[in-house]
Amino acid sequence: MALLDGKKLAGKIIRDLKKQVSRRKKKPVLAMVLVGSDPASSIYVRRKGIFCEEAGIISKTLRLPADTSEKKLLAIINKLNKDKNVSAIMVQLPLPKHINKTKIIESIDPKKDADCLHPENFGKFVQANEEYSIVAPATPFGIVRLLEEYKVKIEGKHAIVVGRSNIVGKPVAQLLLNRGATVTVCHRHTKNLAAFTRQADILVVAAGKRNLIRANMVKRGAIVIDVGVNHVGKKIFGDVDFGSVSKKASYITPVPGGVGPVTIAMLLWNTVRLAKK
Ligand code: ADP
Repeated sequence: MALLDGKKLAGKIIRDLKKQVSRRKKKPVLAMVLVGSDPASSIYVRRKGIFCEEAGIISKTLRLPADTSEKKLLAIINKLNKDKNVSAIMVQLPLPKHINKTKIIESIDPKKDADCLHPENFGKFVQANEEYSIVAPATPFGIVRLLEEYKVKIEGKHAIVVGRSNIVGKPVAQLLLNRGATVTVCHRHTKNLAAFTRQADILVVAAGKRNLIRANMVKRGAIVIDVGVNHVGKKIFGDVDFGSVSKKASYITPVPGGVGPVTIAMLLWNTVRLAKK
């Protein structure tokens, strides 16, 4: 078993971005909008800010109270859209229930959409031409970068994706499909999940359920990507039972230190791309 070291790759990406940023007169500016005080979201935003600093990107965090109205949030995003000093905008999800997430995402100027969530960007991305879209969904793109870093071949492999969210499951399936994998997407309504996961050459798990994947559900030699982030007290666990599965996998991402840091690095990569356009 070998680790797919996301922390190391993130460091490499950040160093490269730092070089790119240092050549520019105007530093990229990432505006992060956080509504409410969800502890996990606060931690993510803080970490993104720290990564920005390392890359020489200026980050601004707008912290809004949980009862902020949708109208108010739309007005704030509109202001950021118009602000010439802001290169990229990121709205931390999840949003409080009284706010329509789709409406908010669609209000972000596609040219400032750091998360590649706007339908225009997401659509371009799905149309298979990655060069054509300016940005890419951070987690899926990070996963593919991680596989490439370790020279894992994707073409011709059977990839099983567990989870079908718009942020991870769907776009990662799309990206793997674009790279020539045969892709099966499983989710909470899948019957006999293990029958599918056991077929995986590449297994990507993004279900948000600790220990969902145990050793008996994994083929020997499989490549296992754990996107899960499950908070237990102060500790973080993935969706994969790392202890047992790592004995069977050929490559596996640790949690923390796997997909997480690469995701943030790719968010900054998007930010720099948007600043250059
Ligand atoms: P994320 O944004 O991290 O992908 P979400 O909570 O939006 O997380 O989505 C979780 C996904 O995981 C959903 O698509 C859901 O169908 C899937 N899922 C949840 N529980 C299970 C399970 N027990 N088996 C398979 N898939 C699951």
